Amino acid sequence: MSSSLAQPLPWLLLLLALAVFTAETASAAELEVEPLGGKAPQREFDYFALALQWPGTYCQRTRHCCSNNACCRGSNAPTIFTIHGLWPDYNDGTWPACCTKSRFDPKEISTLTDALEKYWPSLSCGSPSTCQGGKGTFWAHEWEKHGTCSSPVFRNEYDYFLATLNIYFKYNVTTVLNEAGYVPSNTEKYPLGGIVSAIENAFHMSPLIICSKGSVEELRLCFYKDFKPRDCAVGQDIKTDMVSKGSCPKYVSLPEHASLGGPGRDGLQSWVSDDAAAF
Ligand code: 5GP
Repeated sequence: MSSSLAQPLPWLLLLLALAVFTAETASAAELEVEPLGGKAPQREFDYFALALQWPGTYCQRTRHCCSNNACCRGSNAPTIFTIHGLWPDYNDGTWPACCTKSRFDPKEISTLTDALEKYWPSLSCGSPSTCQGGKGTFWAHEWEKHGTCSSPVFRNEYDYFLATLNIYFKYNVTTVLNEAGYVPSNTEKYPLGGIVSAIENAFHMSPLIICSKGSVEELRLCFYKDFKPRDCAVGQDIKTDMVSKGSCPKYVSLPEHASLGGPGRDGLQSWVSDDAAAF
């Protein structure tokens, strides 16, 4: 008797579990965050980091040239901060990656290609990995690894690349630093605190700066999901850690672009075909 009264309980629990599972599956589908390779779906990101790179520093490691490396454009090589990527990040310092199976399709962004070549060029000859196990362009890597995790803010490649360009134009770091007297130089060193203050005063956000051998290599600006500016560091501990114990010394340089010409112009670099450069 008592056992027959207890019967409905497991069924109720099962139904409840099914309802929860269905609701979770539906919301994951709405976010287009599909699990990859059987992995659990990744939760929605907390904020965006716009990662910019300084070609004057990055291009110093160029050892060979190829047509898709902007360091190799001679006098047309970029002398401004260029885009590395727009990254959906978590507040705890981690980030989601490769969130959907969406493959990069260059046709989707064909109307943006000229702007992307100029402001979001690759500064490397290598072919980075893509999420589906292959190799691709810098843009393919950035879309598949980071862009696919920007849902529900962006749901397609075109919107992601267009919005990144727009936010980059709106927050022009190169102009702000130049106006504060921090101009590209192979001899000057500038106070890191002065560079940070110039950005804070102009954009009301605290950036994150990454150096390589005492030169600024990357500068990150951070945004809420509605693209209002926010500090890149979350807690005070992380902030102190980033500014004082990070990769930058107290005085940093912002090197002018090293002159890497076209084929045969320089004894240190060799010019190789893009295919060969990928390996
Ligand atoms: P991420 O930091 O976006 O996850 O990865 C960048 C990947 O793209 C690396 O595999 C790197 O070798 C490749 N890559 C290609 N061009 C560039 C470039 O201009 N800058 C950086 N930082 N990485 C590039």
